[in-house]
Amino acid sequence: MTRDPSWLAGLLRDIPDFPQPGVVFKDLTPLVGHGEAFRFAVDALADHAAGLGVDKVVGIEARGFVFAAAVAYRLGAGLVPVRKPGKLPGQTITETYALEYGTDALDVHVDALARDEAVYVVDDVLATGGTATATCRLVERLGGAVVGLGFVVELGFLDGRSRLADREVLSLVTV
Ligand code: AMP
Repeated sequence: MTRDPSWLAGLLRDIPDFPQPGVVFKDLTPLVGHGEAFRFAVDALADHAAGLGVDKVVGIEARGFVFAAAVAYRLGAGLVPVRKPGKLPGQTITETYALEYGTDALDVHVDALARDEAVYVVDDVLATGGTATATCRLVERLGGAVVGLGFVVELGFLDGRSRLADREVLSLVTV
């Protein structure tokens, strides 16, 4: 059945004041827990990536891994984890960034990409765009090329997309 991705919106759950007061957290566990919806979301992201000649899929810890791993599997592409500081065991580089709720940093292994590899970045939610921008910087510092980014949900009011203005971006649901 061909469906518009907006049907996924009914499987998002708003959790007010999580993880801190004032933030409305978009909980994707109902979507991931719905077999047809999860497959639909993964297929939509993988279809987008497939048109971009992707060598590697980069997934952002932690909820991004859920979708990135499935997209990489469908493409037959390698998966590169971008993780919170101190989690990766090998030699890493780090980028710091601003979140909707605080600041944080992300690491990637220095040998995760070969020069000029085409990379597709996957995360669950695009909010301010800080996380995605930092991830693009990590990829580019390693000599990779970000050919596209895919998100399940975009928080339109935070306008993270403007920070990715020069990039190829797909989000399945904008709220
Ligand atoms: P940002 O860097 O502001 O675009 O934030 C995106 C990252 O933070 C993603 O990894 C999301 O998982 C998480 N995130 C930020 N805001 C929310 C939110 N309101 N609901 C769920 N996840 C969020």
